[in-house]
Amino acid sequence: MLLATERKTLVITNRSLANIVSTSILLCLCLFLPCVHAGAQTAFSDPQIKTALSQISVAQIHSDIEKLVSFQNRSTISAQDADSIKAGRGIGAAREWIKAEFEKYSRDCGGCLEVNTDSFTQPVSERVPSPAQLTNVYAVLRGTDPQNAKRIVLVTGHYDSRNSTNENTTDLAPGANDDASGTAVSLECARVLSKLKFPGTIVFLTVAGEEQGLYGSKHFAEFAKAQGWNIEAILNNDIVGGDKSPGQDAKVVRVFSESIPDSASDKDIRMIRALGGENDSPSRELARYIVQTASEYQLQVAPLMEFRRDRYLRGGDHISFNQAGFAAVRLTEFRENYDHQHQNVRTENGIEYGDLPKFVDFDYVANVARVNAATLAALASAPDPPRNVRLQTKELVNDSTLVWAAPADGRAASCEVLWRATAAPDWEHSQSIQNATKATVPVSKDNVIFGVQALDAAGHRSLPVVPAPER
Ligand SMILES: [Zn+2]
Repeated sequence: MLLATERKTLVITNRSLANIVSTSILLCLCLFLPCVHAGAQTAFSDPQIKTALSQISVAQIHSDIEKLVSFQNRSTISAQDADSIKAGRGIGAAREWIKAEFEKYSRDCGGCLEVNTDSFTQPVSERVPSPAQLTNVYAVLRGTDPQNAKRIVLVTGHYDSRNSTNENTTDLAPGANDDASGTAVSLECARVLSKLKFPGTIVFLTVAGEEQGLYGSKHFAEFAKAQGWNIEAILNNDIVGGDKSPGQDAKVVRVFSESIPDSASDKDIRMIRALGGENDSPSRELARYIVQTASEYQLQVAPLMEFRRDRYLRGGDHISFNQAGFAAVRLTEFRENYDHQHQNVRTENGIEYGDLPKFVDFDYVANVARVNAATLAALASAPDPPRNVRLQTKELVNDSTLVWAAPADGRAASCEVLWRATAAPDWEHSQSIQNATKATVPVSKDNVIFGVQALDAAGHRSLPVVPAPER
C-alpha cells in the first residue's frame, strides 16, 4: 500500500481549467511529480466502519457454519415439511434458522432490518425432478437518506448444498465451504452492519437452488429488476472457506468480474469494440473498488482481481445478477480442493472426500467477511455517483475534458477524476474537482481510460462512472 503523500492527487478549484495557462501548470506539475502509481486515490477510512470490522467474529462465523452443516443435507430438493424442520434436517430447517438469525439481529437493533422471503415454485428442470418450492431469505437495512436510500448494495451466498449426486437428498452433504462459508459472510455482515446507520440501503441475501442451476438468484435478480431496484453492487461469496490444503494462500481472495456486460446491447458492444471498453464493465469497476477498499482498511486478505466472469466449467449466482443488468462479482478462495466439493463424505485410498468444517479456515472466512463488510459500508456511505458523465471528443486536442451532472442526492462535496493507461489493470492517477462538474486534464484521451466518482464531505466514495463519448 502506498502512503497518501506518495500518490499523485491534484486539487482543481477553478472552473476555467481548460485555458492554456492552468493546463501548462498541471503539465509542469505532472513533469516534476512521480506520475505513475499503483492505486490512484487518496487513502480514506471511516473510524465507524473500522470499529464494525473489528466486531466481525471468527467464533460467530465458526458457529454459523457448524449450524448449517448440522442440517445434514441442504439440497434444494431435500425435505422442507414441518416434521423435518422440527427435526433440524434438510433445506427447510436451514431456511428457518437463517430467517430466525436475521430476525434476532433485527431485534438487537430495534427492528432495523426488514426480514423477508422470496418464495416460488421451480418447475421440473434438469436437476429438479418434480416441482420444488425454493425460498431465498433476505434482510434489508434501509438507508436513512430518502434519496440515497434508493441506492442498494447487496451481499449474497447460497445456503443449499449437494453431495456426489444431485438426487441424493438424505446422505450427509455438509457444504461447509460450498457454501455455508458464503452464507455465514452474509449473516455476519448483517449482524455487524445492522449496528450502524447508512444513507444508502444494504441487502443481506441467502439463496437456494444454486446447485440446480442458479434458480434462486435468477428469481431474485428478476424480482429486483421488476421492482426497479437500483442495485449498484452485488458481492457473491461462494467457496470462501479457505480450504486448508497445501497450496492455499490465506492472504488472497479472488474477485471474478465479467468483461463485456452480459446485458450489453449490440450498440453497447460496438462502442466497447471501438473504444477498448472491454475492461471497464460496471462489475469490473466494482472489483477495483473492492481492491481499493481492502487496501484503505488494511485488511488481512487482499482481493485479487480475476479478469473473467468465473472459473472454467463453473458458474455462480453473480451471473444471474449480471444477466439482469447489475454489477456483480464473485469472491472465491485462492485455491479450491475439488475432493472437498460436491463429494459424498468418505475415505478412499487414504483420501478424505467431502465438504467438512474441519477443512475450513474460519479466520480466513472472517477476513473475507471484512472485505465484504468494508465494501458494503463504504458504498452505503457514499453519495450518489455522478450522472451523465461524458468525455468531449468533438475536437482533436491532446487535453481531455470531462463533463457530468451533479449526483442526484445533493450529498456530494466533490468529485474525483480517475485515469489509467489503456493497458493498466487499475486506476493510476486522480484529480480532485471541487465545486465543478467539468474538468480538463492534461493527458490524451486516446492513451487512457477515465472514470469519475463522487465523494461526500467525509471522503466516502461512490463507484466510478466511465464517461460516454460526446461529439
Ligand atoms: Zn457454490
